[in-house]
Amino acid sequence: MKILSVNAGSSSLKFQLYEMPEERVLISGNFERIGVGNSFYTIKLNGEKIRKELELDNHEQAFKALVNELKENNVVESLDEIKGIGHRIVQGGDYFDKTVVIDDEVLSKIDELSKLAPLHNPAAVTGIKAAIDVFPSALQTAVFDTAFHQTMPKENYLYALPMKWYTDYKVRRYGAHGTSHKYISNRMNEILGRTDTKLITCHIGNGASISAVVNGKCVNTSMGLTPNAGLIMGTRCGDIDASIIPYIMEKTNMTPKEIDNVINKESGLLAISMRSSDSRDVEAGINEGDENCILAQRMYVRRIVDYIAKYYVEMEGCDAIIFTAGVGENSITTRKAIIEKLGILGVKLDEEANNLRGEEKLISAKDSKIACYVIPTDEELMIARDTLALVNE
Ligand code: AMP
Repeated sequence: MKILSVNAGSSSLKFQLYEMPEERVLISGNFERIGVGNSFYTIKLNGEKIRKELELDNHEQAFKALVNELKENNVVESLDEIKGIGHRIVQGGDYFDKTVVIDDEVLSKIDELSKLAPLHNPAAVTGIKAAIDVFPSALQTAVFDTAFHQTMPKENYLYALPMKWYTDYKVRRYGAHGTSHKYISNRMNEILGRTDTKLITCHIGNGASISAVVNGKCVNTSMGLTPNAGLIMGTRCGDIDASIIPYIMEKTNMTPKEIDNVINKESGLLAISMRSSDSRDVEAGINEGDENCILAQRMYVRRIVDYIAKYYVEMEGCDAIIFTAGVGENSITTRKAIIEKLGILGVKLDEEANNLRGEEKLISAKDSKIACYVIPTDEELMIARDTLALVNE
């Protein structure tokens, strides 16, 4: 059976088509610049990458272009072979604690939640509507980035703010990257051969978050109402004193939109290194002795270690710390810096084992009190698995 996993942005559409339950990727790709001119798409098929220019005014045209590619390349003979389409949705609020089949009510809730994710949820709604038009016989499912975090206890998701802000405006911690945290914690439990585990899952990419997962359920996570909270990221500041915002708005006459742009797009590694949001560039700067890059990396690592320590105490122990996403999977030096700072908890790195990029592996020493693993994440596969389960129901 074929299952399509899609991630619609405002001007983009990423997809992967799987043969399930074998979990084999048949074709994958990305449509870019949809509706903004000069659109194009890239496709990966049989180990080959193809790039094509094609004017696309909307997501429906992108799905139609995908159908043409599927037929021309003999990936499918008939569209009916695609039994399910799983859509990645950034914000599910407190309505959704699991993947669901999309009906009118679900669609209107996703739309309503655009208030909390103005950049992402409207794009997802556009993508869903287009997919329904082009693939009317497939089961459409919504897979939420926030769903995995819905098991957090109230004391961890509430802010110490007027209760009215929570009841009337839905201000609370929702978290993000939930599909990734779920995937790597499930995989970790598989490797450990048990489910009664305490895990700290570190999804560290351009966006970054850490979760505490007990017996497969999330109990805390570092992102908040929005993905801005928690760790220092490529361009996001992470946790700051909230009073900085009104203070700077008064000083500079910035609008809410302008200051939101600064804390999300002009802060983090980029602001401190004064060089780049990309940890590869920051690492290059460190090797050149650039003081700003050295400081940026110290702050970045410090914050990650703080969260690991916090969740260790909260869970009263930890069986494994897992690193994933761009930095977590690939940055040998960042993993080393983090693990070395956890020495007080009895965590010990195996330097030779840590010398890897993008592979699943144990990287802590045999006598480490907490096992440390690299597990490459696979959000698209998680979406396809959840969708398959609903198709089979
Ligand atoms: P993601 O958001 O998960 O795609 O992660 C993207 C980020 O991963 C980039 O901005 C880089 O900071 C980081 N990254 C990717 N490859 C490497 C590498 N080889 N070494 C260090 N950082 C890397």
